Amino acid sequence: MSFKNILGHKRPITLLQRAIENEKVVNSYLFLGNEGIGKKYVALQFAKALNCLGEEAERGDACDHCSSCRKIDHSLHPDVLLIEPEGQNIRVDQVRQLQRALAYRPYEGRRRVCILTAADRMAPNMSNILLKTLEEPPLHTVIVLLANNSRWILPTILSRCQMVRFNPLPVPLVSGWLTETKGLPEKEASLLASLSEGSPGKALEIQEEIRQIQREELLKDWMGQKSLSPERIGSWVGLLPAERESLLLILDVAKTLLRDLVMMKTFKKKPNFIHSDLVPVMEPVAINWSLPSLLKRMEILNQTALAIRANANTGLALEAMMLSWAEG
Ligand SMILES: [Zn+2]
Repeated sequence: MSFKNILGHKRPITLLQRAIENEKVVNSYLFLGNEGIGKKYVALQFAKALNCLGEEAERGDACDHCSSCRKIDHSLHPDVLLIEPEGQNIRVDQVRQLQRALAYRPYEGRRRVCILTAADRMAPNMSNILLKTLEEPPLHTVIVLLANNSRWILPTILSRCQMVRFNPLPVPLVSGWLTETKGLPEKEASLLASLSEGSPGKALEIQEEIRQIQREELLKDWMGQKSLSPERIGSWVGLLPAERESLLLILDVAKTLLRDLVMMKTFKKKPNFIHSDLVPVMEPVAINWSLPSLLKRMEILNQTALAIRANANTGLALEAMMLSWAEG
């Protein structure tokens, strides 16, 4: 896979290709964007383009066929180092391994490329080791740090890197990729893409969990109910997962269901539903609720998700949500 085969990210790719073409490649980059969005793939293609032996190299891309490209594709190139956390965080010895590798000239490539994923998950002492390397970058070396959030990176490190931002991909792009490349049925692909926050990696990651979510039940037994008895609320709270991320995913699904209900109310012509398979179940619910009350429920859902994200007690937050749900 070369740059031209990457899904989206035209802007960062153009920036990197121009740098290669104009010989303006800097020593350290920070790729910033959501988990699973494609930063690592772009970094690896960058490493290939920097070392490609084919003609494509002149245009700042990789040929995919030369020995250098093939070695990088198979993680066999001695000058391309990919450091990923083993477990939760990047470990000290991994940063030391990076330091050792940098002590020598590239072995066979034009440039040594070190890709450090999860740069926002490093202990401070490791950041300091890394900082030393960034302050005195070895010749012919490019360091690419990948991170989801710059908030957890030392300002001294940030100031040494050229920042390259990766924006969420458009939903239709992710959805098309899921059907064409991963062979998913269109309906499932569009649902996953809508919940993926523009990240193909996340879409794949949540696939199994989404399949387990009883969307019809959510619609009929909770969202479609005008009132819920305390017992029903209690059983819902007991039924929904206590684990924060799983619960947030269910709330995200509920949000897309509400979005579909709003669309149903607003447009006479059949719009593009995310849950098109549930239209017969949604119709009676949509008749039951007015547009303002649907919008109010959307607001309640958003507030609840925010509170849970901010570490609120999940059981209490859910209970409060279910109670205010039935109020009008
Ligand atoms: Zn090549």
